Amino acid sequence: MNDKATDYFFFMHPNRWSRPLSFEHRLGNFQCMGIPKRIKPIKTVVLHILDSDQYSNGMDKTAINNAYWMANPDPNLNGTHAESSIHAIADRQNYVVCMPSDTIVYACANPNTRQESIEIEIAGTFKDHANPEYWESDDAKLKLVNVAKVLKQLQTLCTFEMPPLQKGHLNMIGQVDINGFIQHRDVPLFADGVWRQPPESFKYGQHQDICQDFPYEILFDIMKTI
Ligand SMILES: [Zn+2]
Repeated sequence: MNDKATDYFFFMHPNRWSRPLSFEHRLGNFQCMGIPKRIKPIKTVVLHILDSDQYSNGMDKTAINNAYWMANPDPNLNGTHAESSIHAIADRQNYVVCMPSDTIVYACANPNTRQESIEIEIAGTFKDHANPEYWESDDAKLKLVNVAKVLKQLQTLCTFEMPPLQKGHLNMIGQVDINGFIQHRDVPLFADGVWRQPPESFKYGQHQDICQDFPYEILFDIMKTI
């Protein structure tokens, strides 16, 4: 490991509302929503768009905006989004490393998937995310370059084996059965005592990121050159 606590945003900006759920880590006590040290190997990278864009009043949200949003829950939201944590966030110009790769983050609220995942959010895409053509644009490529860079940065800080550059797959309870890259929209949710498969899980506030026809190959090609 080459990392230190100051490399991670959520260590330096703890989420005050999640304090009772804080946990011990080799670098100290992270006060954000999460579960202690990862035991299982990483099998998947899960891509998201910002949850906070739902509350953004039409303003474009950057990676740093969203990192602060997770660390400082809006009291008007009754603490609902305090149940949020992610490994890293990328936008057009920048990225923010939030949590080490040897932590389990809250992510999609699936207790199985998050044990085996690195979770990445892509900022500033709220209006465009559902359009597959958007993901082939120069604007989207700026974001995907930063996704690739922040994955590499996470790996440099705290070593892990990158899942293969292919589309992954989960089983009915969210365990990885094909290693690779997926989206939050692919993740089943346990709700009302039943495992809900997408798209039924979307009704429970689950993200439909990024778009059904997201061209993964564009991201994979970028990752090969970073
Ligand atoms: Zn999501």
